[in-house]
Amino acid sequence: MQTRILTAITLMLGMAGIAAAHERAVEFPKTEEGKVILAADLHTHTVFSDGEVWPSIRVKEARKDGLQMLAVTEHLEHQPHKEDIPHPDRNRSYEVATEALEAGDGRELFVINGAEVTRGQPHGHINAVFLDDANALLTDSPRAAIEAANEQGAFVFLNHPNWVPQQPDGIARLSDYHRELIADGLLHGIEVANGTLDGHSEHALEIALGEGLTVLGTSDIHGLVDWTHDAGNGGHRPMTLVIAETRSPEAMKTALLNGDTVAWNYDDLLGKAENVEKVVKACLSLSVSSYPDESAVLPVDIVNNCPLNFTLQNTSRVTFQNTSDVVRIERDDHFTVHARTGERVAEVSLDFSVLNTQTGFRENLDISLSADVPR
Ligand SMILES: [Zn+2]
Ligand SMILES: [Zn+2]
Repeated sequence: MQTRILTAITLMLGMAGIAAAHERAVEFPKTEEGKVILAADLHTHTVFSDGEVWPSIRVKEARKDGLQMLAVTEHLEHQPHKEDIPHPDRNRSYEVATEALEAGDGRELFVINGAEVTRGQPHGHINAVFLDDANALLTDSPRAAIEAANEQGAFVFLNHPNWVPQQPDGIARLSDYHRELIADGLLHGIEVANGTLDGHSEHALEIALGEGLTVLGTSDIHGLVDWTHDAGNGGHRPMTLVIAETRSPEAMKTALLNGDTVAWNYDDLLGKAENVEKVVKACLSLSVSSYPDESAVLPVDIVNNCPLNFTLQNTSRVTFQNTSDVVRIERDDHFTVHARTGERVAEVSLDFSVLNTQTGFRENLDISLSADVPR
């Protein structure tokens, strides 16, 4: 009996501990089709290039943030700490990160090997992740580095294409060199959000949609996530939401190569409309109780099961008794609108433009939410 009580107390304390540790952690519900929505950060740095922390800190941050996948992507060419930290083996950062994982909680977080091929224009900065051996990318020719990455089956993407030193007007553009890489199947994705350099690019989103590139959000973190993004206080690093069949590195890689992603930056969700819709419909639902006596004004609870705030513009025929057409639903919260349905209906359906989404250049996702009205 004593042991049982102790076990129960230990379990409860353990659960409380987990709840506290996961308060800031991102967690998304499954999609309507039953796919999992998993958070990935595929662009980070440590002292093995120009970052300010040891790789184990990246792993600990990722665990706190509830990431499912983390890539360490050191600059191959830019090595400002090399006098203090000689770096002959370019897989070392990944190895150190992996060792930190084994000392911690194991399989909840997948750490993958990567590198940032860092050259001037027209190449710019290109990341390769899911590498077997980053040393093979140390070549004179940048194109040869990208080919070597592809020979290893890497997922390759263009970084911060709107970075002002490369594009003074802040407008993302592809070079002819990039177009050749895409035509040859060597470049698979593009950052539309980067936490370190000029965060948000609807032009990059337009390029992604036009060229069939996977949409990515990354932190490109060099310092600490908490200091840069106020993580733990409601902030979060920009990241990529990967819509995968299962919770495994293989399924996530398949989804990345298929373009089944949404970039998440602040409260903004950016991506192909069909992908953004999957995430939004996983997050939002209506919960309805019956009409109050004699009334044709129906209380409709809009429920948000996700760790981001939604801003909706009502585009339905019906208007609301208690609020304007712009409705904000806080993260993991709900908001009740009182819908003037005209007559008592058996099913309520509300149309919204989701203002915190981008599905094209200056385009928002339109959705319809519905629920049966109990008698
Ligand atoms: Zn870069
Ligand atoms: Zn970088």
